[in-house]
Amino acid sequence: MTAPSWRAVEREIARARSARRAAPWVLLGALGTAALVAVAGRNVSGALPVLLPGLAAVLFTWWMGIARCPVCGRRLEEGGRARPVGAAGPSAIERTHRCPRCGARFE
Ligand SMILES: [Zn+2]
Repeated sequence: MTAPSWRAVEREIARARSARRAAPWVLLGALGTAALVAVAGRNVSGALPVLLPGLAAVLFTWWMGIARCPVCGRRLEEGGRARPVGAAGPSAIERTHRCPRCGARFE
């Protein structure tokens, strides 16, 4: 096995951040589309087949918003929670270059 590279981890963190940034818009799009269908069809239950794939997309985007360790596959960011997009300063993983779960060091 090759040593995990810090560049790969940086890419993973950046990818997760952009997914988290997109998540509210995906949610808004899903709700907006369902609302339009409900209004146009004058039938709230008729919007359900539109809403469900939209919510699946929201779940998928949320899942993509989790940065994962290339070694153990668990969450890289501290506390098991995604940091808010605007959070100040580097996260623990950016300071230590070390997976908080399995202790793998990224060079
Ligand atoms: Zn790990």
